[in-house]
Amino acid sequence: MEIERTAREIDKAQIDTAPPGAMTISIHSSARCPDPAAVAESLLCLVHRVQSEHDLLLIPLRLILVTGNLGEAVSSWQRALGLPEAGVSKQTEGVAVGKHMSWGTDRESARSVIILTDGIAAAIAANEPLAVAIATVVHELAHVHDDFARGLACGFPLPQAPLHLGDWPRICACVAEITWSEYAAESLAMGYLTPEDLESFARNDPAYLAGVHTRLRQLVISYKVGQVGLPSLWSRCVTDMSDLFAHFGRAAARLPYDQNEDEASDRLVGPIGEAACWKPVIKRLVHELQELGAKNYTEWGAEPFCGLGGLIAPAVEAVGFFPTYNGNNLHVKVR
Ligand SMILES: [Zn+2]
Repeated sequence: MEIERTAREIDKAQIDTAPPGAMTISIHSSARCPDPAAVAESLLCLVHRVQSEHDLLLIPLRLILVTGNLGEAVSSWQRALGLPEAGVSKQTEGVAVGKHMSWGTDRESARSVIILTDGIAAAIAANEPLAVAIATVVHELAHVHDDFARGLACGFPLPQAPLHLGDWPRICACVAEITWSEYAAESLAMGYLTPEDLESFARNDPAYLAGVHTRLRQLVISYKVGQVGLPSLWSRCVTDMSDLFAHFGRAAARLPYDQNEDEASDRLVGPIGEAACWKPVIKRLVHELQELGAKNYTEWGAEPFCGLGGLIAPAVEAVGFFPTYNGNNLHVKVR
């Protein structure tokens, strides 16, 4: 275990060759931390605490990077990993403050890094650590665990070409996996939030859905009057759906334990409005996630995300997109 404050970038090659147990906490020189040593120390304590509380498998985690510029740090790692530079997606809960990345194809080559903003790190080192800051770190640690444990049980994902917007089966598979992954991570993190935090997230859920729904409907109208082309309209739809499903994954994890699927969908969709057509989708989504979450990864069937993947079509239909896929080509009708 190493703690360093550095201006130099720790690169992917160093992470790939770092032996198990060699985790570095790196406070980048861009980070606004008055006391970097204390920040690193608090982070390390938190990692150990969470790991022992939940029996997390964090072997692939080799680096926690604290940065003053999350977007830039994330882009630079995405480039190093050959991923499209999606940057940091806008989370409804506010500006993104943490990000994890995992790669590797087996137990030995599996690697993860976590990137945190300086604000989050400082809030953990404060005299009274902020609950949402702790929950953010727990969320990212839980991602590392989920990626690794799931990889061991179900197989690690092979490196793939960037997502093609005409590859409907892969769009569904990707969105389904993101949804699960966010659910798994937030299921652990929610235990560290205060009741007030949970309430404020819950208030935001229906507003977020209504916002995405309305924005996509407006884009459909722009398309009909010839202001937007179909490729950019579809691209926007896929991006928004991916963010929305990720959001619902997190939101589903924060539902009270005793809530049934009907209550859950009422709560996430909110009062009947234009977005009411989402209720059956959300109901099934919550059901699918809870079913998966109730089992160990080793008990999952061959196509665990099949049910979740099947929800992407009714979701895009809810905003007026009707995709048909013939095994080669995707055709999208817009209404
Ligand atoms: Zn996440």
